[in-house]
Amino acid sequence: MASAFTHGFVALSLGKLMTGRLARRVWTLGLFCSLLPDIDVIGFLFGIPYRHWLGHRGLFHSLPFAVVTGTAVMLLAFRDLPRFTGRWWLLAAYFSAVTASHGVLDAMTDGGYGTGFFMPFDSTRYFLPWRPLTVAPIGVYGFLSRWGWEVILSELIWIWLPLSLLFAGVLAVRRYRDRRSRAAR
Ligand SMILES: [Zn+2]
Repeated sequence: MASAFTHGFVALSLGKLMTGRLARRVWTLGLFCSLLPDIDVIGFLFGIPYRHWLGHRGLFHSLPFAVVTGTAVMLLAFRDLPRFTGRWWLLAAYFSAVTASHGVLDAMTDGGYGTGFFMPFDSTRYFLPWRPLTVAPIGVYGFLSRWGWEVILSELIWIWLPLSLLFAGVLAVRRYRDRRSRAAR
């Protein structure tokens, strides 16, 4: 995995960019979705090998799983929202995208096996052609080391910095547009 902080940061940034103001229910569930795929590490306890389709970075890191998760979150947690409206689909797309972003980040790391993006239909594990992220240790203790420091540094440079710049750019454009439409009134 990439570190949990970075998965969460991507969830919040995507939420702001895609849905504007973030209601608490949206960002808490967004965080949840961004970390959910790693539930597959439980498989190690049951002796499921890494390479197995139910193993780490397998089915639970796939795009089909992301779509199912996004839809399930909407059906379970947003029953008060009228179904299949524009807003409903936007949120479903958001939760799917956040879940999928986990596997994409993992596919940008330099360790482990790749992400099974198309499982269960295709068992190939994929890496992105560009893998600047140092793979994160599983568990907290690994972070208190030189390895942990390298992970954090690589994520700050390649994820946090570009996303923050993108974010600042989008905010500036939105503010400029608001000011112009107010001036035109
Ligand atoms: Zn992962």
